[in-house]
Amino acid sequence: MLSNHSLNHIERPHLQADCEQCYGLCCVALPYGKSSDFAFDKSSGTPCPNLQEDYRCGIHTQLRQKGFKGCTVYDCFGAGQKLSQVTYADRSWRNHPETAREMYDCLPVLRQIHELISYMREVMMRPDTSSLHASLEKVYPDVARLSDLEPAALLQLDITSHRATVNTLLIQASEIVRNSAPASTKAKGKPKGKKRSGMDFLGANLQGADLRGASFRGALMIAANLRNADARNADWIGADLRDTELGGADLRGAIFLTQAQLNAAMGDARTLLPSHLNKPSHWR
Ligand code: SF4
Repeated sequence: MLSNHSLNHIERPHLQADCEQCYGLCCVALPYGKSSDFAFDKSSGTPCPNLQEDYRCGIHTQLRQKGFKGCTVYDCFGAGQKLSQVTYADRSWRNHPETAREMYDCLPVLRQIHELISYMREVMMRPDTSSLHASLEKVYPDVARLSDLEPAALLQLDITSHRATVNTLLIQASEIVRNSAPASTKAKGKPKGKKRSGMDFLGANLQGADLRGASFRGALMIAANLRNADARNADWIGADLRDTELGGADLRGAIFLTQAQLNAAMGDARTLLPSHLNKPSHWR
């Protein structure tokens, strides 16, 4: 694992959303369409009518009940407060309309950078991926520095090429974690989950399935049933877990599983999670 010096460096960009330190940037910058996730249409640059003068959400405790489930699952990875407090030096979009449009455009770019840093940090903190730590330590400072760019530089950034460089290491980490999935207490033989990958899990019935070491990279798993599945050491990067049933599922050892993904899913008291993630309050 990394030295304390390196860990401090990794923690420097704050990667968890802190809405108290933001000016409700996502509630203005992002567009959304009327759906099961949002109660009405809104374009980019239009403040959500639920956003109050103090930049707080007026229905924060009732988002799901009021039809704004999408707001509970969005994660800016700390990009909102970084733009508000650092990049734009405590200037809000409301008080500085001359730079508001630029701020809106910077948000998705900086979010991608913070997301990338978050995944790198996860790998660098895992003992089971220690063989990759030295390689990641070499590329980490360059990626971390991107989060300090000025707005004009952020908007010109070729984020795809940076993602590609890091992705090679993230894929290697995924393989290490998935190949070390623990033995099943129920099923015999090799985990069936290792063969699973792709985008085809929409509404799938995987109840009680042996999904140890599965790759769900970018998979659409909306409303899939994974109740009581053994999904230890699975890779969840970019998987869409909206309304995925995770009651009683074992997700320990997961890699690239985020709190926002869990917030979008359904689970219960029996669901087993990695220690750094929490059971959302709406789980039964
Ligand atoms: S409903 Fe609340 S959290 Fe969602 S966009 Fe509007 S103000 Fe923001």
